[in-house]
Amino acid sequence: MNHDRSRDLYDRALSVLPGGVNSPVRAATEPYPQFAARGEAGHLIDADGNRYIDWVMGLGPLLYGHDLPQPVESAIQSRVSEGPVYGLPTEIEVELAEFVSRHVPSVSMLRFVNSGTEATVSVIRLARGYTGRDKVVIMQGGYHGAQESTLVEGDRRAPRPSSVGIPEEFANHTIRVPFNDTEVVQDVFAEHGGEIACVLVEPILANKGIVAPIEGYHETLRDLCTDHNSLLVFDEVITGFRVGGLACAQGKFDVTPDLTTFGKLIGGGFPVGAIGGKTEIMEHFTPTGDVFQAGTFSGHPVTMAAGLESLKFAAENDIYEHIHELGDRLRRGLTEVVAEQAPEYTVAGTDGMFKLLFSRESPSGFEDHCEAGCEQRSDCPRYDRCPKTGGDVASGETDRWRRVFWGEMKEQGILLSQNQFESQFLTYAHTEEDVDDTLEAYKEAL
Ligand SMILES: *Cc1c(COP(=O)(O)O)cnc(C)c1O
Repeated sequence: MNHDRSRDLYDRALSVLPGGVNSPVRAATEPYPQFAARGEAGHLIDADGNRYIDWVMGLGPLLYGHDLPQPVESAIQSRVSEGPVYGLPTEIEVELAEFVSRHVPSVSMLRFVNSGTEATVSVIRLARGYTGRDKVVIMQGGYHGAQESTLVEGDRRAPRPSSVGIPEEFANHTIRVPFNDTEVVQDVFAEHGGEIACVLVEPILANKGIVAPIEGYHETLRDLCTDHNSLLVFDEVITGFRVGGLACAQGKFDVTPDLTTFGKLIGGGFPVGAIGGKTEIMEHFTPTGDVFQAGTFSGHPVTMAAGLESLKFAAENDIYEHIHELGDRLRRGLTEVVAEQAPEYTVAGTDGMFKLLFSRESPSGFEDHCEAGCEQRSDCPRYDRCPKTGGDVASGETDRWRRVFWGEMKEQGILLSQNQFESQFLTYAHTEEDVDDTLEAYKEAL
């Protein structure tokens, strides 16, 4: 494969963009990233004309791959021709809010913003304003965007900012606990219950491998929040309208959060975020309440049209069935490859998400194990060894993944996300042939 043009573009980019990129993960592949030229269904064509089966898919916002369904594309184009933005409300934002609140039972009102980060910043301010408390509980290995309150590392007794440029004080209000560990979070509530504004959790860890919740974990969080008058906030920026179809991951797991953040898919491929929840809480946002929140581009008509038409199209067609069947085919195939070639590795994911985790410990057997992605079933022979926390994923063979495996897959025309931790996405545009070609490549590369 020739990458001369990507290399030259990267060289130019290094002079005008820090690290050559506008979001750091894009520079994670070595020696330089492939520059994208265009997409075609489930494929991506790079600046040198190389074609890949694309499992990055924008890192989450694309349900239909790179080809928008005709009604979606028409709606976007007609909005564009009517002028991009007004500073006045428009009908389309009311329609998207009505659509989401119809399909997601915990949501009766929404505030649209412009990114997932903006959504989690605003939801934390709302939870603090509503409860009059400052502390926020988050998960180790959870990701909530590039914001002060969640860029925290260290254990819960010694939290510190995970980036320079953030005052220590932010970390002092954040309590970081391991995902899937009910005892630790129970201890935290026993000690700090009256100070906790909210628990902010991805229903499935999707930015640190893919880690599913163990049975009863979200129910424990729900009960603790209810008992201590704290808010349970699901960050569904990745899982929203991806896992569990239009009911989202909260529908799939049958847990009702007080507030939810959305992003990625809810804008049909355009910049977006949203906060949703009960009217009584949501009306604490300005102008009805006193939690200040605002944005010039919030509820942008083009984004609203793209989001609404994408989700309506999914409601009216068998989009999720196609994606879930394809996902099962891919995850089952990967499980067979792994059983044969790398039994210590864990196939993770559900619905339209997948990842092969380079975990280090072999299962005690393959009888009756999760066949289409780790579901954290306690009777699975892998259960004691499959990753339960972000830390478990991070302790895998991450260098092998990045330095050896990723490049081998790329050479075979398979584009995987840039590191061991980011999820990969199936879309309506992917075909059985794409899946089967990808499985062949995994067999070669592992
Ligand atoms: C991507 C992501 C965010 C941040 O969204 P941006 O649009 O990149 O700011 C927040 N939370 C989760 C769970 C995400 O996956």
